[in-house]
Amino acid sequence: MTEKEYNTRQTQNYALCPKCLSRIYRNPKDRDNSIIPLINNTQKCSICNNLLLNEDKIFKLILKKIKMLKIEFDTFLIATQINNQTITKNQKEIYKITNYHGNNDIKHQIRRDISRLIEEKLGKTYDYKNPEVVIMVKIRKKPYKHNPYPEISNVNIFIDSNPIFIEGKYRKLVRGIPQTKWPCTQCKGKGCEACDYTGQQYKDTVEDLISREILPMTNGNTTKFHGSGREDIDVRMLGEGRPFVIEVKHPFKRKIDLKFLRVLVNSHSDGKIEINDLKYVTKERKASIKNSSVESYKIYSAIAEFENGVTSKDIYNIEKLKTIDQRTPIRVEHRRADLIRTREIKNIEVERINSKKLHLIIKCQGGLYIKELISGDNNRTKPSVSSITNNQAECTQLDVLKVHIPE
Ligand SMILES: [Zn+2]
Ligand SMILES: [Zn+2]
Repeated sequence: MTEKEYNTRQTQNYALCPKCLSRIYRNPKDRDNSIIPLINNTQKCSICNNLLLNEDKIFKLILKKIKMLKIEFDTFLIATQINNQTITKNQKEIYKITNYHGNNDIKHQIRRDISRLIEEKLGKTYDYKNPEVVIMVKIRKKPYKHNPYPEISNVNIFIDSNPIFIEGKYRKLVRGIPQTKWPCTQCKGKGCEACDYTGQQYKDTVEDLISREILPMTNGNTTKFHGSGREDIDVRMLGEGRPFVIEVKHPFKRKIDLKFLRVLVNSHSDGKIEINDLKYVTKERKASIKNSSVESYKIYSAIAEFENGVTSKDIYNIEKLKTIDQRTPIRVEHRRADLIRTREIKNIEVERINSKKLHLIIKCQGGLYIKELISGDNNRTKPSVSSITNNQAECTQLDVLKVHIPE
């Protein structure tokens, strides 16, 4: 048997649709000489089973899904998944027979053709790098029950939407609220009598007070909160507020009125928190908001109470504090590496309240623990307000007045 006869025997059962044929032969002349014929009216394409001739129906299926989910987007990407042995097997076989070595397969063709339809008919933009939604065209062997089109009954559409990121600043006007979710210490988040079966130690968190407004507005799934540092539960965040980025996962509505979001959060949080300066940002911002650089600093207002009376000389010495070595405080040791960090104090202003009580305004580098700067934390922070006055002091009230990070 000659090679030609062998090929003929191999190909006699195969026929291709015009789209699959022109994928293999880019030159129209070569198509006429193809060893595999074009399908006639009664045949089905051996690779795509005429799927590519029914792309308008795949498009309609996508449209149905978009409407059903009420999903809004401007940019998209098409993904394909083929769980159909016949397509993969035949395509491989036919590429071998026709000596096709390109990598433009049926998946590429679907992605390209459907992308063009969505761009033309819906006015959306294809975006490979940063799509707002990913539209998955899934093709399997068995038909899908609720698919209304018999020609493409084995096709189904899945749409996933990438997160949105909103930056702002929050002020925490009361004590006793953590920044993010805090699982109940008794049940570890499972839900018990102590936490009223919420699984949460605190009813309100800064994140939750925002996410309970933002989720219904975006029809999103969950939020993730990225703060530029955090204050303790018993510390207020005043001044302009602390920068944060809130990430909304799987939002079906991406463009929301941020002014309205602000009004909702501020009016529904009973004076507990206030958010300002909201704007959309890219996902890169969530990392840069967390990294403290040399330009970043914080200003605190602290009340220090001493065991014994404080002299004017003590106040002079406190105002002279500049560089301290701070070993990881005992109270956070379980969640932070045990290290000694050198931290700079830019400025301390002291105001006397009474003989044993001072009001301190402290401007310092980020990452400095103020409560321990005052108490000395059993000599783990050196020098401290306690050590230089030789008078044990405790921080009895703390507020953050400013968190400065580079824009
Ligand atoms: Zn085909
Ligand atoms: Zn519990």
